[in-house]
Amino acid sequence: MILLAVDPHRPDPAALEQAARVLRDGGLVAFPTETVYGLGAHALDPAAVQRIYQAKGRPAYNPLIVHVADAAAARALAASWPEQAERLAAAFWPGPLTLVLPKHDSIPHSVTAGLPSVALRVPAHPVAHALLRAAGIPVAAPSANRSTAVSPTTARHVARSLGERVDVIVDGGPCPVGIESTVLSLAGPVPTLLRPGTISVDDLRPVIGDVALPSGATHATAARPSPGMLDRHYAPRATVRLVPGAERARVLADAAESVDGGNRVGALLLEDARDARIAPVVRMPDDPAGYAARLYAALHELDEAGCDLILIDPPPDAPAWSGVRDRLRRAATSP
Ligand code: AMP
Ligand code: MG
Repeated sequence: MILLAVDPHRPDPAALEQAARVLRDGGLVAFPTETVYGLGAHALDPAAVQRIYQAKGRPAYNPLIVHVADAAAARALAASWPEQAERLAAAFWPGPLTLVLPKHDSIPHSVTAGLPSVALRVPAHPVAHALLRAAGIPVAAPSANRSTAVSPTTARHVARSLGERVDVIVDGGPCPVGIESTVLSLAGPVPTLLRPGTISVDDLRPVIGDVALPSGATHATAARPSPGMLDRHYAPRATVRLVPGAERARVLADAAESVDGGNRVGALLLEDARDARIAPVVRMPDDPAGYAARLYAALHELDEAGCDLILIDPPPDAPAWSGVRDRLRRAATSP
């Protein structure tokens, strides 16, 4: 594996050309986007796409997001491009919004897990953008971690999770948004939110009108419209529990036996709470954007500290927090 460190704002063109060549030749390149690090491969090369599934241990039914440098390139990969796509692209691209549209014939079935639709995104991160321009091809890129684990927001997280399974890691520093993109389907009769992110329905509605939320899909056991809906996902090794401050003492008392037995309890808290039984404590930002940017790194830190149990203060139940709350709920779901 080759590690290429670049300036996040002005990446070295020679380094990116080296990574772009690996992509064009069918290799795997991990690179920073504004959301999380992506594990990229040539989206029109089925053998390259297959390597993504192998490296991640990702089930074949979980489709990939295809990343391109601009809206014109995205449009070329969709069989149809409704007015709503045009408006959303103008309002939110480049940025952390993924649009699901009927797929063009050029997209291999493995990219879409056999679905007739394809997920498309134009990332805003200068490194991702320059890499896509240099590569000149669409790049399929799920998060650069083993399947179901916490997504990576630094190159070190990628190296720890995937190591030699990847050909190149482009290190462009920490990801500023920190949780995965909002996924919106325009492939059906009504625009439908498939995965919440930092762009909320309150941001989308002024641009395209009403947005449907998936009907109970998060608890169904049947096929999901969007596999980001897998219940257990984004999960650290430790057991994660969402526990309001008022219940923390009781939960700790219940856990006392296992704490005394050497088990370690860490926490992500929205307030200062000194309790000798909890260490480490990560004090989380109290705004959704700050919280999202910190979340995965904090979970990685507590995992690395050897925590067996992670207690998390539930954030407010408001639309701006829905992306963060979704990831916390999935991290807390038992296997
Ligand atoms: P990841 O790249 O690991 O963040 O996962 C990509 C996510 O994009 C999937 O888990 C789905 O939620 C979504 N996605 C990708 N392609 C499609 C598609 N054709 N239809 C619906 N959702 C999709
Ligand atoms: Mg992922």
